[in-house]
Amino acid sequence: MVISTVFAVLLLVVVAVYYLVPKRQCCPGCGADRDPESPLCTACGWIHDDPEAPDDGDEEGEEEMVYE
Ligand SMILES: [Zn+2]
Repeated sequence: MVISTVFAVLLLVVVAVYYLVPKRQCCPGCGADRDPESPLCTACGWIHDDPEAPDDGDEEGEEEMVYE
């Protein structure tokens, strides 16, 4: 039963570290450090989504869906 206990503790540690370690702003495309001033990756041109803007998908009042 020691092994299962160790595994449970290890799992808790991994989860804790995952949530406690601050997420680095890096490009998911190439892994380069993200320039906070630029919405695009300076290395590969990856378009970064703004993490502060909640993307709930279909929402009324979106002004971006203007077809003209
Ligand atoms: Zn990149």
